[in-house]
Amino acid sequence: MTNPKRLIRPLVRELHPYVYGEQPKIKGLIKLNTNENPYPPSPKVLAAVKAAVDGRLRLYPNPTAQPLREKLAKWHGCHADNIIVGNGSDELLALATRAFVEPVPEGRVIRVPNHKKSGTRGARPSETVQYFTPSYSLYPVLADIHGAAKNPVPLKPDFSLPGVVELKRDEIWKFDAALTYVTTPNAPSGRGYQTPELEKLCRAQKGVVILDEAYVDFAEENAMKLALKYPHVIVARTFSKAYSLCFQRVGYLVGHCCLVAALHKIRDSYNVNGLGQIGAVATLGDLKYYRANFKKITATREWLSRELTKLGFRVFPSQANFILVQPLRFTAHEWQHKLRAQQVLVRWFSFPEVKDCLRVTIGAPAEAAALVGAVRRTLHD
Ligand SMILES: *Cc1c(COP(=O)(O)O)cnc(C)c1O
Repeated sequence: MTNPKRLIRPLVRELHPYVYGEQPKIKGLIKLNTNENPYPPSPKVLAAVKAAVDGRLRLYPNPTAQPLREKLAKWHGCHADNIIVGNGSDELLALATRAFVEPVPEGRVIRVPNHKKSGTRGARPSETVQYFTPSYSLYPVLADIHGAAKNPVPLKPDFSLPGVVELKRDEIWKFDAALTYVTTPNAPSGRGYQTPELEKLCRAQKGVVILDEAYVDFAEENAMKLALKYPHVIVARTFSKAYSLCFQRVGYLVGHCCLVAALHKIRDSYNVNGLGQIGAVATLGDLKYYRANFKKITATREWLSRELTKLGFRVFPSQANFILVQPLRFTAHEWQHKLRAQQVLVRWFSFPEVKDCLRVTIGAPAEAAALVGAVRRTLHD
């Protein structure tokens, strides 16, 4: 009998997949672990999606998400050819890895794809996916899936970006890497970056730079203009976090039409589901509703940051809909369990740069207050 394991490519057999945030369906659980928006989509979005649920579900959706791309183009001041929509921005990040990075050829392969042993030794710039650490933990997984080399480079201890001069001096960063991912604002730290520093970095890069702006609506500024100014810069956005649409899976990239056309060539024909397209179009018709939510969330973020600081936590400044906090008395991992026992779910990452911290999504005011209550009880037990 054939061992089915032997039928799987070694690369896939040995792959460490992405680790999802838990999605338990426990009643009364306060879910602050995956950066979902506490507020529902706009009533107009719910109405539009509901109105589309009829016999038309038998039809294929628009293959290029044309109406949505046209609306997005108008919003961002570009052409629909500058935009590709995906099944969440995660799909598009994967497509970019496949379109812009060569896999390391068999024989020269760094055999075991592994977060820790991320060797770029022997890898060429054309085979390299580069990113800062900590940042979105999907990037190394995408490189591994593709068989590309990884070049993880540490941010500064306060999670700020090293300047180009520092990167040159340290000689780890590759200015000729085929693809560089920058999470801005950073996740999981929440640190925001200013457009001039991102621009300096982009100007120094020879390969493609993807500015992953998943959380940018909660920040003071965005870098969209860089995607419209430089042919090698792409901005990634998503409807998931700021626009309360995780369930629908809609994200998009904005960039030079030549790069965008390359991505269109390799995507699935109908990669964005029809109800998702309708929900996203309706979202763009009610931006006012969402802007009010951003205000509420950033206000709760500032309140929660102050309260946890008063209780002795170290709170890192955030431009996102979550905060990274360093708790006291118990380890961060212990805190995660102690909070969970009180029905509050937060995220803990085992990555060395953030293993002493918890990442807490900014929920509704009552959820943030419940977290503060649980922290207080834990400290005074
Ligand atoms: C959530 C997230 C994404 C992906 O969002 P989608 O739901 O796939 O659109 C991309 N980048 C970062 C940094 C994220 O946190």
